[in-house]
Amino acid sequence: MAKPSDFASWLMPETAGLRCVAGGFFIDPVRAVDRAVITHGHSDHARPGHGAVLATAETIAIMKARLGEQCAGTFQPLRYGEPLTMDGVTVRLVPAGHILGSAQVVIEHRGQRAVISGDYKRTFDATAVPFEPVRCNLFVTEATFALPVFRHEPDKSEIGKLLASLQAFPERTHVIGAYSLGKAQRLIALLRAAGYDNTIWLHGALEAMCDLYETQGIGLGALRLVSEATDKLPGEIVLCPPSALKDRWSRRLTEPMTAYASGWMRVRARARQSGVELPLVISDHCDWPELIETIAETEAEEIWVTHGREDALVHQITQMGKRGRALALVGYEDEEGE
Ligand SMILES: [Zn+2]
Ligand SMILES: [Zn+2]
Repeated sequence: MAKPSDFASWLMPETAGLRCVAGGFFIDPVRAVDRAVITHGHSDHARPGHGAVLATAETIAIMKARLGEQCAGTFQPLRYGEPLTMDGVTVRLVPAGHILGSAQVVIEHRGQRAVISGDYKRTFDATAVPFEPVRCNLFVTEATFALPVFRHEPDKSEIGKLLASLQAFPERTHVIGAYSLGKAQRLIALLRAAGYDNTIWLHGALEAMCDLYETQGIGLGALRLVSEATDKLPGEIVLCPPSALKDRWSRRLTEPMTAYASGWMRVRARARQSGVELPLVISDHCDWPELIETIAETEAEEIWVTHGREDALVHQITQMGKRGRALALVGYEDEEGE
C-alpha cells in the first residue's frame, strides 16, 4: 500500500498547477510552462504560451482553433491508450467522457500509478469517447458537483421537457443557452437522438466549435446561423452562449422561450437566478453518486480532490476508508463545461 510520501516526492500541487516532478511536466497548468500535458480544450485547462503541449489530437485541434495555431511552441498528439516514456515516467491518455478529445492522464513511476481525471462524466455522450476507469494507487478527481444534492436527471428526460415545450408553444422560438465547446454539440446530438431532424439554428459564437466537431467526425445534422434567417424563427430551436440569453440579440426571435443547459440547474436558486423559463439539468461532469462510484472503481488508496467542492468529497473519501486530500488549486473555474 502506497504512503502519501510515495506520490508527494514526484507529483505535487504548485501554484501553476499539478506538477509531475519526475517527468518534468505540468498537467493543465494555469500559467505558461515549458512542458504541459493538457486534459481537454476548456479554457481553464488549455491555456496559451506553453513551450510544448502533449494532448490528444482532438484537444490540439481545439486549442489551435480557439487560441491560435501558434498558441504553444510545439504540439505532440498522443492517441488514447498509447504509452509514452518521458524521463523514467510513462504517460498514457485515457478517455474521460467530458467533451471531444478529453482525457485522463495516467502516470506510472517507480511501480506506482497515478491517474489525473481532468473533468469527466460517466453518462453516455455521443460526442465524446466514454470514460474508462483505470485502477490506480492515486486518483486525482475533479469535484465540480461534489455535494449529495447533485444528482443529474437522465438527459433524455431533460430533452423530453424541451421537445414537449416546443409542442405546447409551437409559435415561440426556443432559445437554449449552452457553452460553445462541448455542451452545444452534446445538446444537438441529444436532440438528434430524440428524433429531432429539423435545422438547428446557431448564434455565431457557436459556429467554429460545431464545425470542428464535424471535421473530427461528429455528425450534428443540419445547422444554420441565426444571422442567415429570413424570419424570426417561430417554432425553431436556437442555441446561443448563455450570456446571449439576456442581451438584445434574442429580440430578433419570436417570443423567445429561454432555456439553459447546465448541471447548476439542479439548484432551484441558481435556476431562478438564471431567469430562464426552462432550466435543463444537463451536465458534462459527474454528479455525486457517479463521483463516489468512480472513486471506488479505481480502487485507489489515496484520492486528491480539486476543482470544486473539495471538503464534502474529502469527508466522504475518509468514510470510505481511503486517504483524501483537498488540493485547493486556483484557476479552474470551469465556467464553460458545467
Ligand atoms: Zn474544468
Ligand atoms: Zn471542462
